[in-house]
Amino acid sequence: MRKRIVAGNWKMNNNFEEADDLIAGILDDIEKAGKPDDIQVVLCPPSLYLELATDMLLDLPVSAGAQNVSQFEGGAYTGEISAQMLASMDVEYCITGHSERRKYFNETDEQIAQKVNSLLSESITPIFCCGEQLHEREVGNHFKVVQEQLSKGLFHLRKEVFKKIVIAYEPVWAIGTGVTATSGQAQEMHAYLRGLVRDQYDDLTGDETTILYGGSCNSKNAADLFANPDVDGGLIGGASLKPGEFMSIVRSFHN
Ligand code: PEP
Repeated sequence: MRKRIVAGNWKMNNNFEEADDLIAGILDDIEKAGKPDDIQVVLCPPSLYLELATDMLLDLPVSAGAQNVSQFEGGAYTGEISAQMLASMDVEYCITGHSERRKYFNETDEQIAQKVNSLLSESITPIFCCGEQLHEREVGNHFKVVQEQLSKGLFHLRKEVFKKIVIAYEPVWAIGTGVTATSGQAQEMHAYLRGLVRDQYDDLTGDETTILYGGSCNSKNAADLFANPDVDGGLIGGASLKPGEFMSIVRSFHN
């Protein structure tokens, strides 16, 4: 079944105490104001704080996600963290293919595909990011760019395995810029992405794939974006660092 998800990508922010306060603030907000049952909330702190997160979230309706994983299974890869390690810490989700990793760490579609495979082999749900740069949209190449990203990063998967994937459409020009895609642009791209999944697999798989929007999403624009039939939630960066702001995005589905 298609899920609705709001995931917070903290990126490389917060010291240990601030991370503790942020999780506590979100849980406090949920205790006071509740969380819609039909929305899955995922917190993706830096890997160093995943144990803190999984401990604090134990038995609560909020999941922990990682921001990155190694493409290798294990061994002599200094500094890396494997999917098996994440699974052993009860991490349920992991962001892959984020544009910041593509840009600053030169991650290729092939590496991203390997990361997706590693995660799936440990039953961790990849949140697979795709999205075009501004100059690509300006020349009308945005559909082709995301089509290639899905085709190289995901479409090697068998249908039964693909069903575990969550896609996040994140136009690069909207990430951290304060410029959000319009509701119309988001719906247009999400419908296109769903169509690609339908064509690759079948209608049911397309209908059931969760597709999140990411890029300067906040409590003011979330309701508008989430009201679209093909937008199933958000991957939230900057606005996930304040408990009240993040939780009002979570509640935007019902505004
Ligand atoms: C992101 O980096 O995944 C993101 C969506 O960032 P922001 O919300 O800050 O644009």
